[in-house]
Amino acid sequence: MEFMNTAGLTEDQKMIRESVLDILERTLPFEGIRKLDDERVFPHDAYNALAEAGFMGLFYPEEYGGAGASASDLTALVETLGYYYTGIAQGFMTTVIYAGMHIVHRGSPEMKARVLPDIISGKTKLALAMSEPGTGSDVAGIKTNAVRDGDHYILNGNKIWITCAHVADKLVVVCKTDPTAGRHKGMSTLLVDANAPGVDIRPLKMLGRRTTHANEIFFTDVKVPVENLIGEEGDAWKGLMAALNVERLCLAAISAGHCFRITEYAANYARDRIQFGQPITKFQAIQHKLADMLILAETARQSAWRVADLIDQGENPVRETSIAKIVCSDANVKCADTGLQVMGGAGYSSEYLMEMFYRDARVGPIGGGSNEIQRNIIAKLMDL
Ligand SMILES: Cc1cc2nc3c(=O)[nH]c(=O)nc-3n(C[C@H](O)[C@H](O)[C@H](O)COP(=O)(O)OP(=O)(O)OC[C@H]3O[C@@H](n4cnc5c(N)ncnc54)[C@H](O)[C@@H]3O)c2cc1C
Repeated sequence: MEFMNTAGLTEDQKMIRESVLDILERTLPFEGIRKLDDERVFPHDAYNALAEAGFMGLFYPEEYGGAGASASDLTALVETLGYYYTGIAQGFMTTVIYAGMHIVHRGSPEMKARVLPDIISGKTKLALAMSEPGTGSDVAGIKTNAVRDGDHYILNGNKIWITCAHVADKLVVVCKTDPTAGRHKGMSTLLVDANAPGVDIRPLKMLGRRTTHANEIFFTDVKVPVENLIGEEGDAWKGLMAALNVERLCLAAISAGHCFRITEYAANYARDRIQFGQPITKFQAIQHKLADMLILAETARQSAWRVADLIDQGENPVRETSIAKIVCSDANVKCADTGLQVMGGAGYSSEYLMEMFYRDARVGPIGGGSNEIQRNIIAKLMDL
């Protein structure tokens, strides 16, 4: 039984949901996900099929081949991807939103015309390279640097935990172009060819999200043409801030969708599991756990949609976005943990998908600005 209803969605959003589920059922059969996870293989077929159906461009400007859809439509898309499989949601989100929105917001018209159509068609995948071994939460402390040399920048440094870099064609790299400038200053964003000489991408083994796994990247004297500077030199901080609301909305929506899948999966198992002569769903202790999971799912979904509504009304909902990021990612972890308990030994076994759901959910409170950092943002806005 499906718990994720479509009440309140527009007809377009219902079509987005139906069409995405249809594509994913054909190109990423649910039974095949375990194998991809085991082998740490990116879901290329599903990604390409989504691109072919136009979903990569849903939120992109119409003048570059996108559909110019609203944040609410984007939420309908992303929560459906997260519901079906977080790996495909992460794959979409990394290229189109996490990295791609830097080009949408700040790329020159020439760069947009050059790169956005290829993202939309699925030809080009991106990764966003920001975190470094020495600095994660403290983004302003990055050390990777680019020095201007005629028509090029020469890029040197080391990035870590970079999602999808192993399948990316281009990397959006945040670096220092003026190491003497103070914090938050002298930072720039470069579009770097992932196959350029001097770029070395090494896969890392992570607990979850294994099909879009994280990577370490080494840049050694990489020549980057000046026309690949995204925005103005030194203005990367402004760009990072501008991208955050939509980025965190997507992280929230992925988690919300995932909560519904987890709840359905646990409920289906529990209906069939007989103990003491009856399905375990007949025990109130199990019923309450499943009800709690649905509460987490629904609350998460509501907080994500609140952010989408505010963005669509032209607001800058920094507080609500941080709240939604915390509510949804924490709900996702708790939902998976409860689902695992509902399934007993089967929940803990890789014969079933619950343990993968649990592993995939666990990154939520860490990535995209940890939930501690989100609380810092909220507290700052409370003017305490
Ligand atoms: C699976 C995965 C995928 C990722 N993908 C990407 C990617 O594609 N691109 C990219 O650039 N990065 C990526 N990251 C990195 C991610 O953004 C960082 O892990 C995250 O920002 C936290 O940084 P850190 O790991 O260095 O932890 P640290 O910053 O070292 O923090 C450690 C702990 O201290 C807490 N902490 C730190 N500072 C404060 C503070 N001021 N107040 C309160 N608590 C604090 C943190 O919340 C955390 O709990 C990914 C990470 C993971 C795990």
